[in-house]
Amino acid sequence: MAMTTTEMLEKLIAFDTTSDLSNLPIIDFIEHYLSERGIEGRRLYSPEGDKANLWATLGPDEPGGVVVSSHTDCVPVEGQPWTTDPFTLTEEGDRLVGRGTSDMKSFIASTLIAVDGWLATGLSRPIHLAFSHDEETGGSGARPLVADMAAAGLRPQYTVVGEPSSMQVVTAHKGIETFEATVTGTEAHSSLAPQAVNAVEYAARFVTALSDLAREKEKNGPFDHDFDLPHTTVHTGIIRGGTALNIVPRNCEIEFEYRILPGESVEAMRAEFHRIAQSVMEQMPDLGDVGIVLRDRSGFPALNTPDESPAVAKVAALTPIEGTGKVAYGTEAGLFAEALHAPSIVCGPGSIAQAHKPNEWVAKQQLDICDDFMVALGQSLAK
Ligand SMILES: [Zn+2]
Repeated sequence: MAMTTTEMLEKLIAFDTTSDLSNLPIIDFIEHYLSERGIEGRRLYSPEGDKANLWATLGPDEPGGVVVSSHTDCVPVEGQPWTTDPFTLTEEGDRLVGRGTSDMKSFIASTLIAVDGWLATGLSRPIHLAFSHDEETGGSGARPLVADMAAAGLRPQYTVVGEPSSMQVVTAHKGIETFEATVTGTEAHSSLAPQAVNAVEYAARFVTALSDLAREKEKNGPFDHDFDLPHTTVHTGIIRGGTALNIVPRNCEIEFEYRILPGESVEAMRAEFHRIAQSVMEQMPDLGDVGIVLRDRSGFPALNTPDESPAVAKVAALTPIEGTGKVAYGTEAGLFAEALHAPSIVCGPGSIAQAHKPNEWVAKQQLDICDDFMVALGQSLAK
């Protein structure tokens, strides 16, 4: 008997694909599953070789069609009070519990289970399946994936990214970029503090300036009230500096991010960060090798698919959940839109409110809706 989506999900959940681990076992599994059906996947290894992206095409080698995209990694379970084994799919009433049930292995399960049906129906336009690594760590994994798909000449009508949206069509989200600032001062015995440059103190000025910028965005916008937080946000998450109280600290590291509204300029935001760094540096005494270095770590562009895009109507026709939404979390959808010059839509089972938490779950009914979505997708591209 053919495997059900729940049985497939059980297999996928059993792979511990926490982002800092290799995802090669789950990629092997998916690649094998596809190759058993005569579909050859293309693997793209990470620079370290311990992770891979995979993409594969079903149907004719023609332009158009649809990209169906998932990430294979999930967030850590450490420190979370799970009451079940996170890597064993557990049924609790009308819910299925396990790490990745919402984010986003249910969508992968539904995709894989749909393959036999798509092949049996026959496709007049291709379906390209994409599976990335390292989404949860900032999307660095998907960049070479979308570049490779673009280089292969893919011109899909649209991309569906199955992040948890409770199967609603999501057309927009903010862009994210994460940064590191390294503040370098000079060391000295703390009794000689005025003769040294205290990296922690200048880091504090930098962080304060970031927080002033955040307040300015909150006060003056721009605004898009379709988002829960209708403005761009700036946030410092980590500050590390100093080794002992009696040493003036030479180094301080800051990690910060922005989450920017679609349409707002990321270049202007980056320039603002550099202006802040410059202005703090100008306050530092000229004592040799002091300064602030900014590093742009990773990020996702914003997603902004217009409601009148034909892709919105096409995807809306595949799900019974009405209306379109804009969400606060970032996804790979903006990357696909940018690289493939085609609109992207986020639509997947489960809810972001249930993701990343202990006892992450998905409603069984969401899986059914997603299965129907996949069948309808195949029919929309059928011969
Ligand atoms: Zn996700």
